[in-house]
Amino acid sequence: MSQQKILVIALLQRGVVSPAVYELLTAGRSLANVLKQPLAAYLPGGTAEQAKELVERGADRVLWSGHAALKDFNDELHAQAVLAAAAQEQPSWVLIPGSVAGRSLACRVAVKLGAGLATDINEIDPASGAVKRSHYSGNLQATMEFKSPVRVVTVQAMVFPQAPAQAGRAGEVTELAYAPAAAGTEFISFQAEEAGEIDLGGAERIVSGGRGVGGADGFKAIRDLAHALGAAVAASRAAVDSGWIPYRHQVGLTGRTVRPKLYVACGISGQVQHLAGMSSAANIVAINTDPECPMMQQATYLVVGDMFELLPLIVAEIKKRRGQPVAA
Ligand SMILES: Cc1cc2nc3c(=O)[nH]c(=O)nc-3n(C[C@H](O)[C@H](O)[C@H](O)COP(=O)(O)OP(=O)(O)OC[C@H]3O[C@@H](n4cnc5c(N)ncnc54)[C@H](O)[C@@H]3O)c2cc1C
Repeated sequence: MSQQKILVIALLQRGVVSPAVYELLTAGRSLANVLKQPLAAYLPGGTAEQAKELVERGADRVLWSGHAALKDFNDELHAQAVLAAAAQEQPSWVLIPGSVAGRSLACRVAVKLGAGLATDINEIDPASGAVKRSHYSGNLQATMEFKSPVRVVTVQAMVFPQAPAQAGRAGEVTELAYAPAAAGTEFISFQAEEAGEIDLGGAERIVSGGRGVGGADGFKAIRDLAHALGAAVAASRAAVDSGWIPYRHQVGLTGRTVRPKLYVACGISGQVQHLAGMSSAANIVAINTDPECPMMQQATYLVVGDMFELLPLIVAEIKKRRGQPVAA
């Protein structure tokens, strides 16, 4: 049998390598170093150029399949392709992004490999092979051990830092032939988000609104500040459940996990389920009429007051400092 490897599955998002893959390369490197196994990556639907970038970001060898059938995510076809890569690489660990596509892929792959599966993990102990995952909004960390020789995991986004590119780093890049078999499902189309919207996942700055926004119209003040800061717009579940903003903006336990440099929480009380999605932001600004609300305890900067009075003043100040015209 060939030497076992740590295998990272490099999923694409609209043709671009998902930033989560670079995080997996960091997690995979710690396993590879301790287990003394090469760090391999498989890139379904990618290009030789993208494969080279994975080498520069730490993979020792990269297999890629550029077949058109793998350009858009399809559970069955991607699982088939990943299994072919696994047959070649003989992985001890398979690391998959913790996205919707990644989770769907992981269960198919684990079943076919007869491997144990742990989803949404946020910690790996390379020496013992134990992994951790949080429950109850991060109040409980469960430790899981595998009984199977092959371990499949999906990794929570933004927990591991992205592996940096080291220009000129050497590694093996090989094309893996792929012939799609018949699949029961078919990719039809991709519905893009509203034009000009910044995706929450990779956003460095986020302005977020909660029940205190008071209605769909109230989000104009949030969008104005987001626009001035070049930030993405987010929301609490209370705002989403009220129908003021679509679900894709929801941050928290049942929404997105974000890790921006700046998170401005406007009219959000800071319940544990919301904090579960944003508490690792580097700087939190809480703007709230209630100085005692839990968000104030999390915040780096506390602003007590009415967001509808404060946000226009902040936007005006940003514009003034940039020398932009300020509405009278
Ligand atoms: C299983 C489960 C999963 C959940 N998942 C999520 C999740 O993913 N994300 C999430 O967010 N929640 C989630 N929740 C809901 C969560 O428990 C809270 O109900 C929710 O986060 C509250 O949202 P909020 O802070 O916007 O509203 P509230 O708690 O009602 O807070 C509104 C805040 O606005 C302030 N305010 C009011 N007017 C103004 C004003 N003019 N200016 C400034 N401040 C003002 C108030 O002082 C208050 O602090 C979940 C709950 C459960 C049970």
